[in-house]
Amino acid sequence: GGLVVSHGELLIDFVPTVSGVSLAEAPAFKKAPGGAPANVAVGVARLGGNAAFIGKVGDDEFGHMLADVLETNQVNVKGLCFDSHARTALAFVTLKSCGEREFMFFRNPSADMLMVPAELDEDLIRQSAVFHYGSISLIAEPSRSTHMEAMKLAKESGSLMSYDPNLRLALWPSPEAAREGILSIWNEADIVKVSDEEVTFLTNGGDDKDEAVVMSLFHDNLKLLLVTDGPDGCRYYTPEFKGSVKSFKVATVDTTGAGDAFVAGLLHQLANTKNLLSNESSLRSALHFACACGAITTTERGAIPAMPDMSSAMKFMDANMTV
Ligand code: ATP
Repeated sequence: GGLVVSHGELLIDFVPTVSGVSLAEAPAFKKAPGGAPANVAVGVARLGGNAAFIGKVGDDEFGHMLADVLETNQVNVKGLCFDSHARTALAFVTLKSCGEREFMFFRNPSADMLMVPAELDEDLIRQSAVFHYGSISLIAEPSRSTHMEAMKLAKESGSLMSYDPNLRLALWPSPEAAREGILSIWNEADIVKVSDEEVTFLTNGGDDKDEAVVMSLFHDNLKLLLVTDGPDGCRYYTPEFKGSVKSFKVATVDTTGAGDAFVAGLLHQLANTKNLLSNESSLRSALHFACACGAITTTERGAIPAMPDMSSAMKFMDANMTV
């Protein structure tokens, strides 16, 4: 199948051992592999797809542990680099009882921020059918230049460009810088996936349910704009058609990684199906599958543990009704 190359951060999330507490209240933390682009690569490989990850970790125990996680999940790690000085990035993350997520990042700077253009595996990027990325690597140099160079190589080789900004406000110098930074590469993407909250943020407080607000994020070269709505599924907008696809009713334990599993489900279909974006019924069935991947991932704690393989995703869709 077509190769999905994901570029960006790979880090350790420290997650409280009990749910619904603040970071200060948490009695203990459990380490979990994290980083949205890395989660997407694992999600694609779990489904049986051809996936590679490009990024940088520290040449330390956590960095090697993360490399092992990718490899164990059949993700190609030829493009993963190790920094001998800086540490693997760490993040303490909790979902408070009010539903709000709280983050504390340790990047002073971390290895992922220090990847330089010369470290990019150009061949891998050129081989990609789909090139996927976020916005965290845009925040500081030299990872910003590296990200830009990777996008340039992917575009030159005709890859489908997939962007999930994954807003992490705390990492940017200011909200304005975040908005500007995220939008600075907006027009390069063929596919953009945003959450309802990101629509509001990127449009300066716009109502994400207002179609004019969402359409203000459309651009001339965009083939697909997706807005995910958690348990409600997603909305899709293309130059020719638009609509919504419902998600599935599940017993949700932890929504971490739902968006990444959703993206993985979609990109896996895109890398293996011709003309998916120009045919509404094919796109709808790919999004139905992507919603299943997202929903399944919420049934266990952490992003990676519950990401489905192809047969469990298929069984789930046969056995479960959409909400
Ligand atoms: P996150 O940042 O938490 O990984 P996100 O905000 O990017 O996620 P969501 O909208 O939370 O993305 O989830 C992506 C998709 O996963 C949704 O469109 C939906 O299909 C599915 N999903 C997420 N949460 C649930 C849920 N509680 N029940 C069913 N499906 C869900």
